[in-house]
Amino acid sequence: MQNFDLIIVGACSAAAAAAVRAAREGVRIALIERGTIGGTCVNVGCVPSKHLLRAGEIYYYAKHNNFRSITGAENLGLDFRQAIEEKRRLVAELRHDKYEKTLNDIPRLTKFQGSAIFAGPHEISVNGRSIGGEKIIIAGGSSPFIPPIEGIDRVDYLTNVEALQLEELPESMSAVKPASTEAGNSWRRPAARRTPRGWGWKPSALS
Ligand SMILES: Cc1cc2nc3c(=O)[nH]c(=O)nc-3n(C[C@H](O)[C@H](O)[C@H](O)COP(=O)(O)OP(=O)(O)OC[C@H]3O[C@@H](n4cnc5c(N)ncnc54)[C@H](O)[C@@H]3O)c2cc1C
Repeated sequence: MQNFDLIIVGACSAAAAAAVRAAREGVRIALIERGTIGGTCVNVGCVPSKHLLRAGEIYYYAKHNNFRSITGAENLGLDFRQAIEEKRRLVAELRHDKYEKTLNDIPRLTKFQGSAIFAGPHEISVNGRSIGGEKIIIAGGSSPFIPPIEGIDRVDYLTNVEALQLEELPESMSAVKPASTEAGNSWRRPAARRTPRGWGWKPSALS
């Protein structure tokens, strides 16, 4: 068994902050990630969603402004594919600068790729390999919750993960609370729709 002073499960915002802080004490750290380094915020959360929101906001208000002094608004367009490409580049850049580089620069930190499973109070198993840790931080974040709406299992629904990968602007979309306002605006404004027709906010049973 390979032993460390600290094991951190997840390679995300919380994990990076914990690793940077722990590194000041000179400890040996094992960092375990089963998915993409950076976790939710940079990959499928705050960063891509705010990029889309901002691009849509600028476009929408430029197109629907009340100033006669501003001309040409009717000819404005938004290239959704280009917006997604820009988002992809931004995510890759921030993931590299804020996570990959930060974690690579921490001395005595060893990364493991795979799902962490507790094998004992101070032991984690990753891909069948045992890792010991005096302390263990669980920075496993959260996963999309699929609300128990009748018939949802027969619908081709999107969570934030799939929605933020869309390459084409959908014709219509309904967003379920609690993230409906942000999600709705992320795709409604790039469509420059004044009314939410077809871009509705479906109340959730859990709202
Ligand atoms: C669309 C969207 C927009 C958002 N916008 C904002 C915003 O504007 N502002 C804001 O403050 N917050 C926002 N959030 C919330 C924010 O993204 C999360 O609160 C934050 O990313 C949680 O960070 P974390 O470090 O706790 O965990 P996460 O970033 O979720 O990372 C957890 C990591 O642990 C890994 N993991 C889990 N279990 C295991 C295991 N057993 N073994 C190995 N690895 C494991 C996962 O793969 C993941 O990489 C948004 C979220 C979404 C979905």
